[in-house]
Amino acid sequence: MIPVSRLLPAGLAALGIALFVSSCEKAAPYLDQVKKALDRETEEEQAARKPIAPEDIPPPPAPVKMEPVINKEARVSILGYHDFTEGTSTNDMILNIEDFRRQMQAIRDAKLPVISMRQFLDWKQGKSDIPAECVMITIDDGWKATHTLALGVLKDFGYPFTVFLYKNYINIGGRSLTHEEVREIAQGGGTISSHSVSHQNLSRRGGRGDAAYDAWLREEFIESMRFLEETYGDTGAVVKTFAYPFGIYNDRALEIAREAGYEACFTVNGKKTGWEEKDMEIGRYVVHGTTLANFDPALDFGGGAVTTGGRKLLAEQKSEDGATQGPLVTVKPEANAVIGNRLPLVEVDLSKLTGVDPASIVLRISGFGRVAHQFDAASGRLTYQIPQRLRVETCAVQLSFRHSGSKENELIGWTFQIDPLADYLSSEATAPGKNDPLPAGSTEEAALAPPAATPAL
Ligand SMILES: [Zn+2]
Repeated sequence: MIPVSRLLPAGLAALGIALFVSSCEKAAPYLDQVKKALDRETEEEQAARKPIAPEDIPPPPAPVKMEPVINKEARVSILGYHDFTEGTSTNDMILNIEDFRRQMQAIRDAKLPVISMRQFLDWKQGKSDIPAECVMITIDDGWKATHTLALGVLKDFGYPFTVFLYKNYINIGGRSLTHEEVREIAQGGGTISSHSVSHQNLSRRGGRGDAAYDAWLREEFIESMRFLEETYGDTGAVVKTFAYPFGIYNDRALEIAREAGYEACFTVNGKKTGWEEKDMEIGRYVVHGTTLANFDPALDFGGGAVTTGGRKLLAEQKSEDGATQGPLVTVKPEANAVIGNRLPLVEVDLSKLTGVDPASIVLRISGFGRVAHQFDAASGRLTYQIPQRLRVETCAVQLSFRHSGSKENELIGWTFQIDPLADYLSSEATAPGKNDPLPAGSTEEAALAPPAATPAL
């Protein structure tokens, strides 16, 4: 007989099989589920491989709006220069080169960055940012001194700048820039832009009918730029901007400038340029050669970085108890006065200021540049007798000085007007020379350039 000890395992084995079969039967529905789940995944995977019908494509998510990274509060001060000289300037369109160098240094001292035309345009067009307060330098016309004098100074400072050239005054000899000089300007940080073909007043129709006027304007805007691109385009320095000759334009000129595809056009109304400024009417501060007028306002962004007090000194003062006092500095002829005498005595009373360093005083007058004034330290009275009849309608005077021990220049500037009939008002004549005859061939330009005998420093 089979011992129990051997039967038991067999029995257990049989029981095990029975239990296994029984449990497999119970497991069958679960396996089905697993199988179905696996099959379903496969179906989904297959579906994913099927091309998607256009109607099944969900709408794209709303694009993330990328605000241009630009400062719309930034302001640019654009300077306008013309010609330069190593001598004394007797014409507001010509600046002494050392005065120019001092101005470039003043920009640096004021920690104002100088931007290029391309940077300016990219900011205006919302493409890239510029510093909150910065300066742009432009030089008009194409005088040879742009190359022989200004270029070296600008390179020393590493400042970018723009030259506005007019086609009819390029490479024609005399004091015009040669093509080679324009190229060197382009290589030295200069942007080349247009200042028209003929440098005429674009608002003057000159008897042209509508069609002829339009055709002429198109020539000035389109041909001038075509010429620059053809001649200097390979330098990569030509940028499509335009400076109106004399800063003058009208609505038709604006339209044609826009049609011609200019990115910006420049005038001569001195003010800071904000982001909202109209692209076809960008202002510039034209720096005057004899008085340096416009330079200091150009650099004044309101923080008083460069000059102080000029306007304050000439204005009435309010004392702490609210009482009004006279200005600290009084001048003659008074600011904005209209005078009938073309030979006025210019007087400045500095007696209320303490500690003015007499050696630091510099007086500049329209048409004369820096002049040799008299200063009486005891009375604080400064005088200068205009030695040649003023032939300008508006005469600007600028006085700068320092207080002893200070490095900062105080500046006082004002203008007065000459009555156009002054020549006939002989009773106003108080100074010698009043009855000198007008020089032969006297012109507006002669008025800006007094004879060399002018005792200018
Ligand atoms: Zn010009």
